[in-house]
Amino acid sequence: MIYLDNAASTKPTQKTMEIMKETMERFPANPSSTHTMGIQAKKALNQSKQAIASMLGAERKNLIITSSATEATNQALFGMFKRYPNKTMITSTVEHAATKNTLKAIESMGGHVIWIPVDNDGLILISELKKALETYDVSLVSLIYAHNEIGTIQEVNTIIPLVHAYGAYVHLDMVQSIAHMDIDFTKLNADMASVSAHKFHGPRGIGMLYNKVDDLPPLIHGGGHENGKRAGTEDLASIKGMENALHEKRLEHEKREASIKHTARILLDTLKAKSVDFILNGPPLGTNRLNNVLNLSFKDIDSQTLAFELSSEGILVSTGSACSSGEIIASPTLHALGVDHDYIEGSIRISHNHETTAQTMQHVGNVIANMIGEQ
Ligand code: PLP
Repeated sequence: MIYLDNAASTKPTQKTMEIMKETMERFPANPSSTHTMGIQAKKALNQSKQAIASMLGAERKNLIITSSATEATNQALFGMFKRYPNKTMITSTVEHAATKNTLKAIESMGGHVIWIPVDNDGLILISELKKALETYDVSLVSLIYAHNEIGTIQEVNTIIPLVHAYGAYVHLDMVQSIAHMDIDFTKLNADMASVSAHKFHGPRGIGMLYNKVDDLPPLIHGGGHENGKRAGTEDLASIKGMENALHEKRLEHEKREASIKHTARILLDTLKAKSVDFILNGPPLGTNRLNNVLNLSFKDIDSQTLAFELSSEGILVSTGSACSSGEIIASPTLHALGVDHDYIEGSIRISHNHETTAQTMQHVGNVIANMIGEQ
């Protein structure tokens, strides 16, 4: 199988899996227990959180371990709504469901949310953001830093100081950016950020909220875990797995990303050489984008059929579209970008990784070109 769906999830590295197994064997006790084995587990937990914090330029007290980025985002957004129910929240029209549907839930509870549009590359319109900040009393601006469907990286170095100048907080969905960018939370200066381990070859079911807002309330109530910010017995094995995956990612960061960029180029060049009519959605390669999120739209093609045919050749990709009552409904993100009518229903996302070879990407390009020639 050729797995090209790494933006959806990645395989944990061998060492990560070994560390998780070893942790389960070595630390069977509850880290909250006050006996020797509990104390040992707690010490390992604190060491692991400290290691994660140091790698990200954060302080340990600012990390809240969660079950996922979705949970982290729910805590950030519901937490701010609880603190400032009468203030406005701002987001974009291209957010991941974790943000979009949480803010829709907040709207249904009476919250006021402004949805800022994006340009053709998926970059949020900073002039519109500024207008909204001038017009409303804003508590929080929540944005997707690097996009999971189209790869666009937002101009956060401009956006964060702008939002702070209006006295509001910033939350970033950093699920894809942590996986492919060199991140230092201190330099970034966002107030909150959601992270998920399974996008950088760590385990699924573990993530965190980076949080610098002192009085952010918990989402999950119970025991006093995570300094009272998130109850539930800690999953030490997954935390150690996340730590190792992050460590490996940082060690190999440049090598991995150079390979991803090189093989992305090979796929696009192969399609061009075969005169395939397609658009790369989002910014061009080599600009402000993730290179492992290649959202390609093919003219007059049905993406579901194409993905199905690719799957029968052992090539696994995703489509942002959904099929409802026999009709293809293209991704809202592509609509927000204004992708041309003739192309929008023929969009697939190819998400490779650093282990994907040049030969594989050339093969995928050739298979797609042949299939499109036949459709
Ligand atoms: N945000 C983005 C950009 C994502 O790609 C994902 C994963 O699909 C999420 C949020 C949700 O992450 P999790 O699977 O940890 O809930």
